[in-house]
Amino acid sequence: MNERGYEAVIGLEVHAQLVTATKIFCGCPAVYGADPNTLVCPVCLGLPGALPVLNREAVAMAVRMGLATGCRVAGLSVFARKNYFYPDCPKNYQISMYDRPLCEDGFVEFELGGEWRRVGIERIHLEEDAGKLLHDAGGGSLVDFNRCGVPLIEIVSRPEIRSPEEASTYLVTLRRILRYLEICDGNMEEGSLRCDVNVSVRRAGETALGTKTEIKNLNSFRAVDMGIRWEMDRQIETLSKGGRIEQVTNLWDAASKRLVEMRSKEQAHDYRYFPEPDLRPLEVAAEWIEALRRSLPELPVDRERRLRRHYGIPPYDASVLCGEKGLADYFEAVAGAGADAKLAANWIMREVLEEMKSGPAAPRSDPGAVSSAGPFGFEAPLDPSRLAGLIALVKKNAVSGSAARDAFKEMVRSGETAETVVARLGLAQESDSAALEKWIDEVIAENPDEAARYRAGKTALLGFFVGQVMKKSRGTANPKLTGELVRVKLGT
Ligand SMILES: [Zn+2]
Repeated sequence: MNERGYEAVIGLEVHAQLVTATKIFCGCPAVYGADPNTLVCPVCLGLPGALPVLNREAVAMAVRMGLATGCRVAGLSVFARKNYFYPDCPKNYQISMYDRPLCEDGFVEFELGGEWRRVGIERIHLEEDAGKLLHDAGGGSLVDFNRCGVPLIEIVSRPEIRSPEEASTYLVTLRRILRYLEICDGNMEEGSLRCDVNVSVRRAGETALGTKTEIKNLNSFRAVDMGIRWEMDRQIETLSKGGRIEQVTNLWDAASKRLVEMRSKEQAHDYRYFPEPDLRPLEVAAEWIEALRRSLPELPVDRERRLRRHYGIPPYDASVLCGEKGLADYFEAVAGAGADAKLAANWIMREVLEEMKSGPAAPRSDPGAVSSAGPFGFEAPLDPSRLAGLIALVKKNAVSGSAARDAFKEMVRSGETAETVVARLGLAQESDSAALEKWIDEVIAENPDEAARYRAGKTALLGFFVGQVMKKSRGTANPKLTGELVRVKLGT
């Protein structure tokens, strides 16, 4: 609820580009980044007489998303023509689905602020993408038809989202499911995941819906958040001054970070939907649906709950690790190789992810590393058993935390095991009292003033002495034991 006594009612329409090899109604490759207008044929250009043929792979992907979100999959659904004129659509209509969608009535769940939320999904349907307009510097516009006919699913939520945070978390949740299913790469920058939002506000406690406006072009999680905030503020402002909300479509302008009014919103009847005469109704056999259901992986939310339960790791860790299927697989492989689960989670979330972010600069000399495979691949810098070996040394205090981080970097570089690297670089943690005492005596002798002040009661200098010993030992002294010995030496 808003501080001015208003609450938002938000619904999302998410378009996800399916990673099929070919387009939805023709054999043209469905790939991103080719030279303009090179991946086209009479069907996707909408030339007279060309007839569409439905891509079975696209149907399978859409059904799997429906099943993963608890939808009912229709045995019979119907493609419809959505008529509109725009230069990115040479046919002047888009083949979509209207009153008989493929999937209906599902939901997704996510945790936000320690609470589980469930957002209903009204429908998921198949449709074809339109082309892309490129506005050139000379003031003209160019059109690239490569994207015409690339398969999309549109995922329509119920208006059950109540805040910008919830909207972005819902979108993150959908993206995670799409990537687990390996049906959409979720790349918002390249437009393979796009989001339109409907927003209205009402006074808290009211049940009737206010007039909604639509925001298009929200092509990052940040834009979703900012666009909704902007529009909520505008509507609340208008209503509190006694004004009326007009049903409009706004475009989010990422450069100026503001909404620009695009046009008054169309009604469904403006599109003159009618059943697509060139395609038969889509029949999906019950056995095929069941086979697709069996092919589903463990879904992210189930996996998150299982990791928390089984490994006893905190909710935050489970959520980060389940962000990508490959990352969760890797965590379970490291834990399975004998590593302490919480330490494994820490090491993966910090060192492993950092190493992966710092790019492929380090040579991948690791033959056991998880190999990358297309947009869903996950390439860990260390194979699970070697990371588990390093974590075991940390766990039994054979190396200090900072020495272990040095060892990690060297293991990535050289491909050796933790034991080899620790021995070769002399990183083993020194816990032998005699060796530690020798360093401590030297440090005390070199710092007589500090020693005197410590003896006079300035015990906060303990850290200074431990630090000096760590320096002298090149990071290998056991810091805890060193602290205890310093205290004894200086008589406290
Ligand atoms: Zn084509």
